[in-house]
Amino acid sequence: MNCPCNPSNLYDDCCKKAHQNIHSVTTAEILMRSRYSAFVLANIDYLQKSHHSATRPSKYEKKEILSWTKSVEWVKLNVLNSTKNTIEFKAYFKENGSLNVIHENSFFVKENNHWVYKNAL
Ligand SMILES: [Zn+2]
Repeated sequence: MNCPCNPSNLYDDCCKKAHQNIHSVTTAEILMRSRYSAFVLANIDYLQKSHHSATRPSKYEKKEILSWTKSVEWVKLNVLNSTKNTIEFKAYFKENGSLNVIHENSFFVKENNHWVYKNAL
């Protein structure tokens, strides 16, 4: 299977490593890519784990996110800019037949010795 974050990589060689062990993630960009892939794969536990504890969705929100991500068709991820702690990206998905894009500059920090998503800037 190709990796959702980058179809020229195999999932096994790409985001699967992060999904199996978040401590293997060495940069904010790898974490961001693994979170995109987790949305595509509806891996809600990884989405929670890779979210900073201060901004992590509640149990209720977690269910909402899971049903939402299962209801859309993810198309692709484009990383536009990156710094050590920020990644600007566009994530494309189809919802009810129309193409939508999430354009965000995300902020990442380390918590418990691994990278996590903190918030959008
Ligand atoms: Zn990947």
